[in-house]
Amino acid sequence: MWQKMIGDTRLVLTEGDITRAGTEAIVNAANSRLAGGGGVDGAIHAAGGPEIMAECRRIGGCPTGQAVITTGGQLPAAKVIHTVGPVYRGRPDDARLLAACYTNSLELAARHHLKSVAFPSISTGAYGYPLDQAARVALTAVRDWLRDHPGLLQEVRFVLFGRAALETYQEAADQLV
Ligand code: ADP
Repeated sequence: MWQKMIGDTRLVLTEGDITRAGTEAIVNAANSRLAGGGGVDGAIHAAGGPEIMAECRRIGGCPTGQAVITTGGQLPAAKVIHTVGPVYRGRPDDARLLAACYTNSLELAARHHLKSVAFPSISTGAYGYPLDQAARVALTAVRDWLRDHPGLLQEVRFVLFGRAALETYQEAADQLV
């Protein structure tokens, strides 16, 4: 585990399964139809039960870089924030859209008075974003948002899948945060 205070918010990096995170909200790396899928999306719907998908269907969809919020169903988290990461194409827009996922998710959490949020590493599975580049974009976006919005969140946590992902994020955090 890696942690550091940014103002009065604790930024934590851990290895694990995000469906078990004890934060008030967890973030899902969804697709634009909010249709469910594999990876972290599949794990969240499997653990949270059908209520989450029922709300996703009512919402209907979400553009890349944006975020929507649903119940957490049977998850320990009260809410799931669904954000749609970019499919990696090696263009400048990739980083802009990935950063927007983190910023818009944090905005939504703050608007709903949620005090703690856990993120997975968005876009680095099926969507092909190189992990080291994604880590830099993610940590910079979260760091900058927390500096600009002091006092809203108690904890932002990255729950990284596997030792290698945790180490990549830790190396980026040591340089950036
Ligand atoms: P995307 O389509 O945005 O790339 P994926 O779910 O395919 O989303 O992968 C995003 C990241 O989530 C990957 O780094 C993957 O290893 C990780 N991941 C998969 N399952 C879980 C889980 N249960 N908890 C946390 N991270 C997960």
